[in-house]
Amino acid sequence: MKLKILTLIVTGSAILFYGTNQIKVSSLESEKSNLKMYVLDGGYMVVNDLSYFTQDESYNGQKKIIDNPVFIIEHEKGRLIWDVGLPDRLADRNPSEIDTTQWILFYVKEKLIDQIHNMNMTPDSFDYIIVSHSHSDHIGNANYFKTSTWIVDERELEWAMREKANTKNYDSLLTAQTAVFKGKFDVFGDNSVIVHSMPGHTPGHMILQIELKNETLFLSGDLYHFNEQRQFRRVPQFNYDVDKTLESMNRFEELVNKLNAKVIIQHERNDYKELPVYPEYWE
Ligand SMILES: [Zn+2]
Repeated sequence: MKLKILTLIVTGSAILFYGTNQIKVSSLESEKSNLKMYVLDGGYMVVNDLSYFTQDESYNGQKKIIDNPVFIIEHEKGRLIWDVGLPDRLADRNPSEIDTTQWILFYVKEKLIDQIHNMNMTPDSFDYIIVSHSHSDHIGNANYFKTSTWIVDERELEWAMREKANTKNYDSLLTAQTAVFKGKFDVFGDNSVIVHSMPGHTPGHMILQIELKNETLFLSGDLYHFNEQRQFRRVPQFNYDVDKTLESMNRFEELVNKLNAKVIIQHERNDYKELPVYPEYWE
C-alpha cells in the first residue's frame, strides 16, 4: 500500500511544511473568519441492541435510531468536509439483501454525491477532507475525495492502514495528499477550524472545533453517540480503549467549559434536528 505524505505538522505548532519548498506560517491571533457550515445527510443507523453502547447493563433490551450528518465548511481559504457518511452504495440495495437480524443496521436514503451535486459542487472542489475516525459511517464515501488533502491524526492513519483493516471505503485516500498531525491542527491557519485528537473510540479519534460568528461549536465525532452517554460518561463496548475515551471526555469537557461552547453530538437525533438543512447554514 502506497502512502504519500506531503505534509509534516509539528505538534502544537502553527507552522506547516507543504512538500519541500512551500512554507505557510499562520497567525497565532484568532481572526474572525466568515465561514459557513452546511449539513448533509450521511444516512442513519437502526440499533437493534443498544447494550453495545455501554459497559454496564443500562441499555439492555433497548433499541434506538441514530442519525449521521456530514458537515461542509466554506472558508475564504478553502472548502472542507468533516465526516463523509455511510457508503452511497447502501442506497442501491434491495431490501431483501439486508440482514435485519444484525445488532445494528445501516441505511442511506439519499446519496451524498447527489446532495453535493445539488449544492453545485463536485468532490474535486474540496480542498480538505477530515473524518472523525475510520469507521464506515464516517469514512464511507471517502473515495470521492481523492484530490483533497486528507488531514488525519497520526495514530488514526496508522490504524486505518493496519494489516487487518478493510480499506475499500477509503482506498483512494491512502494515495491522496495527506497532512498528518499529532494533538491538534489549525486547518485554515486562523484558529477558526481546529481538529483535536480525542482518542479512545479509535486510536486516533478526532473532534472538530469551529468558530462561528457568535459562538464556538464542537462536533463530537463519536466521543459520544447520544446525550445520555455524555451525561453518564458511558463508553461503548466496541471502543478501542475505555480509559483513553474517559480521558478524552475529560479534556473535551474542559475545553467546552473554557470556551463556553455549544456541542453537537453527531449521532444524537435531538442535535441533528437542530442542524441547518441546506440551503440553510450556520455562520
Ligand atoms: Zn459513528
